[in-house]
Parts: sequence; C-alpha cells; structure tokens
Amino acid sequence: MFNLGSVSAPSKTSNENGKHVKVLVIGSGPAGYAAALYAARAELEPVVLTGMQLGGQAALTYTIENYPGFPKGVGGPELGELFQKQAEHFGASTEFDLANAVDFSQRPFKVLTDNAEYLADSVIVSTGASPNHLNIPNEEELTGKGVSYCATCDGWFFKDKKVVVVGGGDSALEEALFLTRYASEVTIVHRRDELRAGAILQNRARAHAKIKFIWDTVVTKVVGEDKVESVKLKNVKTGEESVLQTDGVFIFIGHTPNTQIFEGKLELDDLGYIKVNNMMETSVEGVFAGGEVADPHFRQVVTSAGMGAAAAIQATRYLEAQEA
Ligand code: NAP
Repeated sequence: MFNLGSVSAPSKTSNENGKHVKVLVIGSGPAGYAAALYAARAELEPVVLTGMQLGGQAALTYTIENYPGFPKGVGGPELGELFQKQAEHFGASTEFDLANAVDFSQRPFKVLTDNAEYLADSVIVSTGASPNHLNIPNEEELTGKGVSYCATCDGWFFKDKKVVVVGGGDSALEEALFLTRYASEVTIVHRRDELRAGAILQNRARAHAKIKFIWDTVVTKVVGEDKVESVKLKNVKTGEESVLQTDGVFIFIGHTPNTQIFEGKLELDDLGYIKVNNMMETSVEGVFAGGEVADPHFRQVVTSAGMGAAAAIQATRYLEAQEA
C-alpha cells in the first residue's frame, strides 16, 4: 500500500466558506473527463476545473488514430468535446477555472482557483503535462512569431513556407506530417540518427516528399527580429555549425508534468510526476491522480482515460467508506 500522508478526520461541521463538492476533478483532458464520467454515474456530481486548455493536450491533436472505437480516427477537439458531453450528460459540471493552490492537510480538501475556493471530499488530479522548451536564445522572444509548440494551432500560418520540426518522437513526426498540409518543406532536426517514434509514423514521415531529416543535430539558436528567419544548428558528432533558413520552428521534445501546485503536498517522483499506486491513490488518502500527470510511461489518450476512470472508481469507494 501507499504511504499515506497525515490527514485529519473529515469535518462536516467545519466553517466552510468555499463551494462544497464531493469530487473535484482538476484538469479536463481524457483522464479528467473519464474520471468525471465515472464519478457522475456514481451520482457524485463531480466538478471539473478545466485549467488553461479545455480537453488537455489531446484537444490540440489534429487526428487521433489510436483511440479505440474510431476506425477512421477522430479529431482531437471532437473527441474532447465528446468526452465532456458524455460526462455532463450524467451530471458532471465544468468550470472554466484554474487551480492555483491546494491544501490537502485537512478534510474537506481545499482548492483555491482563479474564481473560487472549493472544499472537496475527494480530489482527482488530472492536470496532464506541458511541452518542454529547448531553452535556447530567442526561443521565448519569438514564441508566437514563428516558434510554436502546437502544429494544429499554428500550422495554418505556414502555408507555402518552410518549417523546422525539432524532436524524434511520435509527437514530432505526427506534427511534421500534419504540417505538410500547409508548409512547402518540413525539416525534422533530431539530435540522434535514430528515431524514437513508432514504426507507422516513421514510415510515413520517411516516405513523405515534403519531409527531410537532419540527423545528429541540435538547434542552438533561433534567429530573427520580429519573426523567425533562420535557426542555428550544430552537429553533435562533428561539432560543425550551420544556419538553416526557415519561417517556423515547431518544438516537440517531450513534456513536463503539471505538478507545480502539488509540490510538498503530494509525493512526486524525480521527474515531477505524481506517485500513484495501482489504485490511483496518491500519498494523501482521498486524493487520486490519473493521466499523464501520473504516467511517465504510456501517455496515450486511451491509457489516460483508463487511469481517470480507475481514479474515479477508487474515489467512489473511498467516499462510500467514509460514509459507512
Ligand atoms: P518523447 O517520446 O519523449 O520524444 C521526445 C523527443 O524529443 C525525442 O526524440 C528526444 O530525443 C527529443 N528531445 C528531448 N529533449 C531534447 C532536447 N533538449 N533537444 C533536442 N531533442 C530533444 O515525447 P513525445 O514525442 O511528445 O511523446 C510523448 C508520449 O506520447 C510518448 O509516449 C509517445 O509515444 C506518445 N505519443 C503518441 C502518439 C501516437 O501514438 N500517435 C502521438 C504523440 C505522442 P531522443 O530520442 O534522443 O531522446
């Protein structure tokens, strides 16, 4: 069993100024809405806090081809909307709000958001992860001016233009393929000579006439004043430096879990992911987690949804035990 944090007993008679909910779901991606669906069907009237991105990262994906039940694939935003509708159909509600601070030291748990304070009998954390940055000169300054972390959001702006994609994983290849709809040329710059991405995506990307690869190479600088003009490259094997003219730089080099507000409140692993046991229990009894925020291994829509559902089943059992 998991090492449980010290939590004082539930106090139903405490002076409660916040909104009282049985289940508060923090995050609105596949894990969040799967959790909300299960909690709603258990008549727990869950409230979902959307966070910054309704639908999570999946909603930023153009097509999802590996979520079961959609043989022809499904649009990310469309799938997110279906998740939300289904959960709300059974009684979940959605708040367009962002959790900023939590107090899990006593029950009900307190969650402070931009607009309210919630008092929750149980909490399901499904805050997902955010794209990593390269942290190179001009990356931040030119974000939104040619530097992007989302092809679905920004690809349209690069019609007949040249773009660079950084990374060698599934995201990089999937987004590079998506960008070929608009861009005249997509150059994938990868730091090794071997891709991490799965075989299907690799084959598609390698066969695509608009996609080129530059191997064993890192981007060391984005160049441009008000917009991206080029990138500085360095071959990591030979040390050779070069400049590549480009209109856009799309960066897909992995993600960092969104756990800043849980630091010191929940046990995290070395990479910052929330530690859960196979019952989706965190280090605090009554607080559960699911999806990419607690999953450094699989990070798929289907596995996230599964973890969210499991977290809600466990939250339901936990609340039943509290009432017994
Ligand atoms: P990822 O698998 O962690 O790949 C990150 C890529 O970025 C790797 O190729 C890595 O290089 C490179 N990289 C990392 N740090 C870098 C740096 N500082 N400079 C240059 N390159 C750097 O991340 P992901 O592609 O976002 O995928 C995340 C998870 O989601 C994976 O489990 C993936 O399978 C899943 N996913 C699945 C699909 C799908 O099934 N269709 C689509 C998207 C994502 P190295 O290879 O050298 O480490």
